[in-house]
Amino acid sequence: MVPPRVDVLGVGFDRVDLAGATEAVLARLARGERTFVITGNPEFVMLARRDPSLAALARDADLVVPDGTGIVLGARVLGDPLPGRAPGRMLADLLAAQAARDGRSMYLLGAAPGVAERAAQALGRRHPGLRVVGASAGSPASAEDAVTTARIAAAAPEILLVAYGMPLQERWIARNLGALPSVRVAIGVGGVLDQLVGLGTVPPGIVHAVGLEWLWRLAREPHRWRRQGALWVYAYLVLWTRIASGRRRS
Ligand code: UDP
Repeated sequence: MVPPRVDVLGVGFDRVDLAGATEAVLARLARGERTFVITGNPEFVMLARRDPSLAALARDADLVVPDGTGIVLGARVLGDPLPGRAPGRMLADLLAAQAARDGRSMYLLGAAPGVAERAAQALGRRHPGLRVVGASAGSPASAEDAVTTARIAAAAPEILLVAYGMPLQERWIARNLGALPSVRVAIGVGGVLDQLVGLGTVPPGIVHAVGLEWLWRLAREPHRWRRQGALWVYAYLVLWTRIASGRRRS
């Protein structure tokens, strides 16, 4: 039996770290099951709290993994810890490595015009043998869905990385996965295509090791202050929920 997800302020997270997430996706692939993966962070949780349709989308996703430190810490404080982080950037890279070994095909969708195509070349260089069967910017707007899905369906990839940022990429996948019969794994990857072409920077290993990616990103991209305001509300709510549940128990 699959254990229930860890509830972090209303969003359920699967009990996996990076290795567990990779293993779960590969096991589902081997069984021929289709997998919609969400890599959730505190910002996603806060969005889902305000928007029941996003919360429902997360409930229905096949795998919801903790993208970073915020969720792992939150789960620990709330008393039902997760085994570790599964950053989308690393999960996408491990899936690409395995796809190269298994001969599985990949399609990169999203980011600014021209970026996905360059990211495909970069990913191919990083994982020799990887079959990237297509790449395009497309558009997260639903009016463009038919054109974009026809293009992807023609390329018939097994793995689809979607880079429209949260929550547009998750909504895009939820709306369109049914129209893409070849796709076995679909995952929203945020700024990963930008990082592959050097437009977005990857945190140094030490920053990742100490779990301060969010602070590092904030320092490099100060325009995120407004968006990351959600992080402080999240931290407050986690602590408040913990205190309130302690009171109920005593
Ligand atoms: N993006 C896009 N179309 C949009 C909005 C965003 O292609 O309408 C792309 C953007 O170019 C970038 C990625 O989505 O490559 C968002 O990256 P970000 O790091 O902001 O992701 P998040 O942290 O929001 O998941």
